Amino acid sequence: MTEIELLIDFHVNAERQGPGSDEDTLKALSFIDINPDKTLRIADIGCGSGAQTITLAKNLNGKITAVDLFSDFLIKLEKRAKVLNLEDKISTLEKSMEDLPFAKEEYDILWSEGAIYNMGFESGIKNWKKFLKTCGYIAVSEITWKTKNRPKEIEEHWNNEYPEIDTASAKIEILEENGFTPVGFFFLSENSWVENYYDPMEKRFDDFLNKHGNSDVAKTIVEKENQEIALYKKYKDYLSYGFYVAKKLPAE
Ligand code: SAM
Repeated sequence: MTEIELLIDFHVNAERQGPGSDEDTLKALSFIDINPDKTLRIADIGCGSGAQTITLAKNLNGKITAVDLFSDFLIKLEKRAKVLNLEDKISTLEKSMEDLPFAKEEYDILWSEGAIYNMGFESGIKNWKKFLKTCGYIAVSEITWKTKNRPKEIEEHWNNEYPEIDTASAKIEILEENGFTPVGFFFLSENSWVENYYDPMEKRFDDFLNKHGNSDVAKTIVEKENQEIALYKKYKDYLSYGFYVAKKLPAE
C-alpha cells in the first residue's frame, strides 16, 4: 500500500477526519440568514466521511453536494446517509476542490471544514467565490494562530507544514479583499480537537499498526500523528481551527 492509501485506511472509519463537532457545525450555521421555505443548494467541499455533511443535512432544507478527492470517504458517507434516510439530501462527487465542475452562482452555501488548506485558504476563497450566488454564504474552518506572537517551536512547525497559517484578522482581511463580509467567527474548542479527534485517533493506532504488520510507512504515520498531538497539547493556547462565516456581497 502507498502512504496515501495507508492514510485513507487510517482515517476512513473515523467519525471525522479533522477537529470539529456537531455543535461547531451548528454554531457556524447559526450565523447564516436562512429562508426555511427555500430549498437551498449547498456544497460541502473536502467532506471526508461526512460528519458535518450529515449535521447539515439534518438541519437544512436543501440538497448537498458532498465533494472529496477520495472515493473511500464518499462511500462511507453514502452508507451513513442511507442509514439515516438522508440519501435524498446528499449526493457525492469525487473531484478535486481545485477543479470543481460547478456552474456560476449555483450554490447558496459553500461549506468546508478542515479542508481548504489543501489548496490554500486564499486560493480556495478566490476560486470558489464564482460558484456562490450573490448574498450566498461561505463557511470554512482553517488552522489559525490565536495570538500575534508564538513560541519558536510551534511557529516553525506550522510554517513548515502550512505557511499560510495566520491570525484570524489576516484571514478575515482575505475574505474582505475578495468581496465577502464576515458574519461570524469563532475558534473551535479544545474538546473538538481532543475528545472528538485525537482521543479516537489514539485508540486506532494499535489496530492500524497490527493490520499493516508494523510496516515502516504505517509506523511513520503513527509517529507523525503522535508528534502533532503532542504539539497541539503543548501549544493549544496559541492555535486552533478558526471557523469563518462570510456573505458574498453584490459586485460593485
Ligand atoms: N471535512 C471533513 C471533516 O472535518 O471531518 C474532512 C476533513 S480532512 C482534514 C480533509 C479532507 O479533504 C479529506 O477528506 C481529504 O480527502 C480531502 N481532500 C484532500 N485534498 C483534496 C482535494 N484536492 N480536493 C477535494 N478534497 C480533498
